[in-house]
Amino acid sequence: MAIYNLGSINADYFYRVPHLPGPGETLAAQGLNRGLGGKGANMSVAAARAGARTVHIGAVGNEGLWARDQMMESGVDTRHVSVLSDVPTGHAIINVDASGENAIVLLPGANHEIPEETRAAALAEASTGDTFLVQNETLNQAETAKMARELGLYVAYAAAPFDADATAKILPYLDFLILNEVEAAQLESATGKTAGALGVPDVIITLGAKGARWITQTESRDFPAMPVTPVDTTGAGDTFTGYVLAARDRGLPMEQAIMLASRAAALMVTRHGTADVIPDLKDVDEARF
Ligand code: ADP
Repeated sequence: MAIYNLGSINADYFYRVPHLPGPGETLAAQGLNRGLGGKGANMSVAAARAGARTVHIGAVGNEGLWARDQMMESGVDTRHVSVLSDVPTGHAIINVDASGENAIVLLPGANHEIPEETRAAALAEASTGDTFLVQNETLNQAETAKMARELGLYVAYAAAPFDADATAKILPYLDFLILNEVEAAQLESATGKTAGALGVPDVIITLGAKGARWITQTESRDFPAMPVTPVDTTGAGDTFTGYVLAARDRGLPMEQAIMLASRAAALMVTRHGTADVIPDLKDVDEARF
């Protein structure tokens, strides 16, 4: 089985600054770190490190080949990552001050120009029962989800960053919906219904240090988080999503998939970084909580 993930690929530029710049201010940064990011890329790396055959559907600009290659080195199949000329790779400029506070400017770039043919070519390889995953950092998710659904794929959607219109459009095609507590509240105020009442067969609401809730058409079950001391919660939700779907893809029941994903996400929050530090299955198996 396999996971086909239509998702963003970002170059994250972390600038270390003495304070966040104000209007009209020019500020010298004290350092720069570049890393692979974007919810799509993070989820693909997580799914691949969790052992799933993971095919990423996306796009980068000419200057973003390193990001694609870093995904490949993490075990992601990047044959369906298109390289676009004249479009910049999606990127984030992340200013981080001495206290750890940040301010972010995000350019979607190539993530908003993923060609129709790239999506169709990837899905043409998929088999019934494979998983299709998508988030909100690309465009036209619903059209591709509909195609995936018609091909008999299990359609999973992470409603992040929250976008009421995108969610409303994709809802009819979903088998699986995952969102965090804040997004669940936003969804409820946009639709007037709780996430569990939208007719999606499997819904997971992640609750940070409080764990995760799995809601089906018949029951709601809570799963605890592992007791850890977090140092950086970036990418926790993306790691959880990649792991839970990878575990399901290899046949684990949802309960076990959620427990594995909780362990992986807990380990993730004990590490500084994003895609580069998403744990692999061996690390998760060896972790003692
Ligand atoms: P997001 O990163 O999307 O905001 P959450 O904050 O809900 O998502 O975190 C996703 C998952 O990561 C949680 O369901 C939990 O399993 C794990 N997690 C997050 N924060 C912690 C924490 N402080 N301790 C242990 N696990 C955590």
